[in-house]
Amino acid sequence: MIHDKSIAAYEAAKEVIPGGVDSPVRAFKSVGGVPPFIERGEGAYLIDIDGNRYIDYVQSWGPLIFGHCDAQIEAAVLESAKKGLSFGAPTTVETELASEIVELFDAIDKVRFVSSGTEAVMSAIRLARGFTGRDNIVKFEGCYHGHSDSLLVQAGSGAVTFGTPSSPGVPADLTKHTLLAKYNDLASVEKCFADAGGETIACIIIEPIAGNMGLVPAEERFLEGLRALCDQHGTLLIFDEVMSGFRASLKGAQGITSVTPDLVTLGKVIGGGMPVGAFGGREEIMNRLSPDGPVYQAGTLSGNPVAMSAGLASLRKLKNQPSLYRELEQKATRLVEGFKAGAEHFGIPLQVDVRGSMFGFFFNDKEVKNFDDALASDTERFAAFHRGMLESGVYLACSQFETGFICSVMDDAMISETIDKAFQVFKEIA
Ligand SMILES: *Cc1c(COP(=O)(O)O)cnc(C)c1O
Repeated sequence: MIHDKSIAAYEAAKEVIPGGVDSPVRAFKSVGGVPPFIERGEGAYLIDIDGNRYIDYVQSWGPLIFGHCDAQIEAAVLESAKKGLSFGAPTTVETELASEIVELFDAIDKVRFVSSGTEAVMSAIRLARGFTGRDNIVKFEGCYHGHSDSLLVQAGSGAVTFGTPSSPGVPADLTKHTLLAKYNDLASVEKCFADAGGETIACIIIEPIAGNMGLVPAEERFLEGLRALCDQHGTLLIFDEVMSGFRASLKGAQGITSVTPDLVTLGKVIGGGMPVGAFGGREEIMNRLSPDGPVYQAGTLSGNPVAMSAGLASLRKLKNQPSLYRELEQKATRLVEGFKAGAEHFGIPLQVDVRGSMFGFFFNDKEVKNFDDALASDTERFAAFHRGMLESGVYLACSQFETGFICSVMDDAMISETIDKAFQVFKEIA
């Protein structure tokens, strides 16, 4: 594969954009090499500016469940765009998209749209704090909830559960209200409640199917334990389903678990590739939001009609294909089982998992249940695998700690082709 144009584009980008990218993971830092610059998408494929074609298992990090350039979504966007790009005034398409979401998610009576997942989570946390009158929040190591200040937190030193900032520029005064617990470990959450006092904790926020430390689903008993703790202490439970919403199932994780959260955040698929986020929940909580209530939240481009139209076309299409998630899950399962068989053939330990259209694989000889387990994976081997796959025309997420995505236009032949290519790459890196 020739990458000359991407190499030149990357150099030019680095002159005027920090690191040459507008979101850091795109820079391929953890796998090395130069990121392909994309010319266009075509169904399940990405085509870069050197003309290389890749089967795309990133799908813009999740939003494109129907692949690139879906005809119905494209038509909805073009039709809406012709009427004007933004009004800063209410439109009926916002109500239509909200109604679809309310109908599908038992936990959501009302929903508000924003422009990104980060904004959705930031707003949901503010609402939880405003509703409960409490400052502290609990989050889990390895879960990502966007880049707002309170959530850019890493474990503090020693046994302390209070977080410290994971980025310069985030005041410790803010992150001291963020308590860190271990995923799938109820005792660590109980310790947070004991350390800080349950009556100080506004919410627990969790990815019920974690996708940002690789794919690590929460155990049912663990989620039940969180629900019980929240009920006991008047704490709100927030499911961050920005990734898993409309990806794990039509109802996201809530189609899989019996645990109901108080608030839910959404993004990615609900914008069909346009910038959208949303947060919703029980009516009594959502009514505390301005203009009905005192908790302030706003956005010039929130509920943008073009983005809403893309989301609405996506959700309607999803609802009309009841067997879709089963088919996507079958394809995802075939893919990772093919990876696993290939890896094991060459003595490479690989852990794999699937939830709906989401798949994950760790170069790890032990099952991965939390962030520490994930960190024990062989990231060098992942990097070598990633490079080999890219050169053979398979575009995988460029970090061991990301999730892969199947889209509806991926057929069995593409899955078989990917498995065959993986076999060759495992052979090279064994
Ligand atoms: C992607 C993601 C976010 C952040 O969404 P952005 O649109 O990138 O701001 C938040 N939470 C989860 C679980 C995500 O996967």
